[in-house]
Amino acid sequence: EKLMNYLKHTLIGLAFGATLLSSASTFAANGYVGIAMPTKSSARWITDGNSMVTLFKDAGYKVDLQYAEDEIPNQLSQIENMIVKGVDVLVIAAIDGTTLSNALENADAAGIKVISYDRLIKNSPYVSYYATFDNFKVGVLQAKSLVSGMEQRGSGPYNVELFGGSPDDNNAYFFYNGAMSVLQPMIDSGKVKIVSGQMGMDKVGTLRWDGATAQARMDNLLSAHYTTQRIDGILSPYDGISIGILSSLKGVGYGSGDMVMPIVTGQDAEVPSVKSIIAGEQYSTIFKDTRELANVTVGMVQAVLSDTRPEINDTETYDNGIRVIPSYLLEPVTVDNSNWQEVLLGSGYYTKSQVQ
Ligand code: BGC
Repeated sequence: EKLMNYLKHTLIGLAFGATLLSSASTFAANGYVGIAMPTKSSARWITDGNSMVTLFKDAGYKVDLQYAEDEIPNQLSQIENMIVKGVDVLVIAAIDGTTLSNALENADAAGIKVISYDRLIKNSPYVSYYATFDNFKVGVLQAKSLVSGMEQRGSGPYNVELFGGSPDDNNAYFFYNGAMSVLQPMIDSGKVKIVSGQMGMDKVGTLRWDGATAQARMDNLLSAHYTTQRIDGILSPYDGISIGILSSLKGVGYGSGDMVMPIVTGQDAEVPSVKSIIAGEQYSTIFKDTRELANVTVGMVQAVLSDTRPEINDTETYDNGIRVIPSYLLEPVTVDNSNWQEVLLGSGYYTKSQVQ
């Protein structure tokens, strides 16, 4: 009987211990995720970060979220710190997509998987997956909106200037090339005139997507080329740049009297730009639902940690210089004065009081 009792207790003890162990291990097995974001100076990245923290925590992960204020050395040391802290996966939206090769080599040596978030990490074999939007389509939509805005005002030819994103961000080329797929034929036919002649990412790029840099370039363009003629439209790749361009235009009188504000595009549906669209200044923006991007990313992290394959819908577009990274591309949506309520309020991305 003693023996039976002993066995019984041991068994209960073992079962109890096993339950404890298994619940502890389910918790630990979900893992630790390091999220490296570029900057808080643009609201979209704040939403990206917040959405991911919520989703990862709900799914039982531990999270370390860091912003690097657009300084490459900051981002590198944040990533190195995450490696030292023992994260299982890194989710990185790179400031400069070409400077992370060494950091990712260290991550790989520590058995850490890497997901490229929104922006492609170049020149590294250690990127498992890429979660982003259809970036070429973003550019197509920007140019189509620019053209349709100008067409509503007259039949042209239209005087236009081009702005590109940061030359160290792979996305900037996709946006620009997408836009040019629409604009180049119109330039060739003479319908669109790039009055300054400045074309190509090397001429129109805006380092770090900086609004003040864009504003200064717009000032120069206006004084050099638009003293005796008006400008009809500006291709702007990002809302922060659009706001800079709009300030410059207002500075020389556009938007008042008979000087109608040119058509200015944008991207990210940031609050100042949505307000500007409602006020009839900025013409359009491109909405990218960062909540969905966060959701796709959580799926990718779960997959790499369980050695399964996440849902992928593109395996040919994003060559990072070493290999084509399997990607999931989400759909961008054009937002202008005609649909901002439906798209931005309807999806719950903003409440009315945030933008009005
Ligand atoms: C993102 C855009 C953003 C830009 C500036 C790009 O990589 O895809 O959504 O406007 O960076 O932050």
